[in-house]
Amino acid sequence: MHFEPWNGGARVRLRVDGHLQDAGELSAGWARTVVQRVRETLESPGEQGPHLEGFIRSPENGTHGLYYVTIVASRRGPSVTFIDISAPEFGASLSELAVPTEDRDELIELLRARSGVVLVAGTNRAQKLRFFDLLLREKKAAERKTFTLGRMPWFSEDRYIQVRVRTEEAGEALDALRVIAEQEPDIVAVEDAWNERVVALIFQSVQRPVLCMAGLHLRTALAALEYTLDAVPNRTLVAEGLRGVVAVAAFRRLCPECRKPDERTAEAARKLGLSHAEIKAGALRRAEGCAVCGGGFSGLVPVVEVLRVDRETAEYLKIEESGPKIRDHLLAKGYRAIDVKVRNLILAGEIEFDEYPYAEGG
Ligand SMILES: [Zn+2]
Repeated sequence: MHFEPWNGGARVRLRVDGHLQDAGELSAGWARTVVQRVRETLESPGEQGPHLEGFIRSPENGTHGLYYVTIVASRRGPSVTFIDISAPEFGASLSELAVPTEDRDELIELLRARSGVVLVAGTNRAQKLRFFDLLLREKKAAERKTFTLGRMPWFSEDRYIQVRVRTEEAGEALDALRVIAEQEPDIVAVEDAWNERVVALIFQSVQRPVLCMAGLHLRTALAALEYTLDAVPNRTLVAEGLRGVVAVAAFRRLCPECRKPDERTAEAARKLGLSHAEIKAGALRRAEGCAVCGGGFSGLVPVVEVLRVDRETAEYLKIEESGPKIRDHLLAKGYRAIDVKVRNLILAGEIEFDEYPYAEGG
């Protein structure tokens, strides 16, 4: 749902299944009232320059009726966008998450850990937070002494002890982590551990029996692991504390009714970093839209990558210095990065290659 400055007031448009439809206009007075009301209703608002973001949920509706909201100020007035993120593909629990069974089983296995660190990598805040919600539910975190740290939205304040800090302020995050550690928590979820000192303190704090989940703004599990190895000088601390890294992303699913072969093979080969033959061997698809889907897409494809640190890998992390060697070790153990999984979904015609975000520099 879009509210855009228009004739002194606002124009309201709805995008339903890819189609943008006019839904009416608001007078200047009503437009101001609506934007003010949205601002006041935003959960865990975060502001960056003229850009304000947050979440709004329909009351009593759990993960249904959940919206990611952005308000962008411009000279003509504020534009407000609501995006429905109550995608059914994420489900209400990990068992309902629409990913291959083996990935789901790996995740559930990883979450058996009672202590240590689980890193959650990803670059889309809304998707990552939905995922945190699922992980905490799987751990039955509401029945335990669970702290959330950051600007955790809809799922946090009723069920967990929420410590609201701006995690981008390393000082605030570090102070909060120390205070939480003194409370002897069972579980700590840190929205974003982007600062190296925060990462290091997380690994120090799990020397006590606590499970810490920490978000990292990186695309793949391996990138998150390498970042962590750089951030924490004490290798033993990482090797013994880290239980695993999960990377998460979601992409628009091509409509199965109207998708057809995509002839842009040269462009696809370049963007995906594959040979022409590899592209030809796949079933590249695109979709222009039909009566069923509207814009060519229908729902989301969630993709997860689980890198579990088992005993052997932990020993390896202790002795091996270099990133490439660690990568080779993991590949030999059958590790498949999220970008490979996404590429396979593109080659299988589930996702359009334009959605591929992992191209070099991208
Ligand atoms: Zn269609």
